[in-house]
Amino acid sequence: MTSIEQIALQYRSIRCNHIAQGLADLLRQAEANEISCLAFAEALVSHEQQRRNQRRIEMNRRKAGFPVDKRLAEFDYRHQTTITKRQVSQLLDFQFIDERANLVFIGPPGVGKTHLAIGIGQEAVEAGYKVLFITALALVEKLELAEIKGELKKQITTLQKFDLLIIDELGYLPMNRQARYNLFQLVNALYEYRSVIITTNKDFTAWGEFFADDNVAVPIVDRLIHHSHVFMLGGESYRLKHKREG
Ligand code: ADP
Ligand code: MG
Repeated sequence: MTSIEQIALQYRSIRCNHIAQGLADLLRQAEANEISCLAFAEALVSHEQQRRNQRRIEMNRRKAGFPVDKRLAEFDYRHQTTITKRQVSQLLDFQFIDERANLVFIGPPGVGKTHLAIGIGQEAVEAGYKVLFITALALVEKLELAEIKGELKKQITTLQKFDLLIIDELGYLPMNRQARYNLFQLVNALYEYRSVIITTNKDFTAWGEFFADDNVAVPIVDRLIHHSHVFMLGGESYRLKHKREG
């Protein structure tokens, strides 16, 4: 008679590793619950599917590169009253990603822009989307390095594979001409193709100046804000408040 181990090996040979690994347990449960052959057939395949999904999400979470773990559940809307829980919750059907729309969080330091961006990003990963979190500075460096190696196109293609790119702290530091050009190439490649979340301390009116007002600034801003939901955040810094109260 064929043993469980032998059958498990067969499952493994066709890459159904989760069935292979769980086979003994699944069989025991099936026998204990006296489920039908059909129900057992279904239990095997859904076990494999669920585990594969979980693994993919875990992998996507690692690849997303979130600098810290920030959850929307921990966001306090009593402190931050310039955005409502309802506004944020409405984003979580991820229609904006499916429609390749962008989110822009504008406001002074400490008002929760990055927290919201990471929180939304984490939820998107859980929902099965591929997300990349990157600071504007790191992004500019990445593009610059690629450009020097003559691999800008390749780098952009890699970044295009993410459903959602979170660019944190755009506008905090000035960029040179080449950096702006590289960023323009990326923004252009993502336009109406992928979603971007931007956090920035600069109002759009100041963006021209931040991009040093050359002919690349206007189209970058134009492409980012076309099809975008803009959230102007105000209030006092959460960090400062808690330092005082702490
Ligand atoms: P910003 O990106 O706007 O400068 P952050 O999102 O980094 O601000 O927020 C600064 C710190 O304060 C983070 O640790 C963040 O988790 C926390 N924080 C900010 N706003 C809130 C809030 N409304 N509820 C809970 N924590 C908050
Ligand atoms: Mg921030």
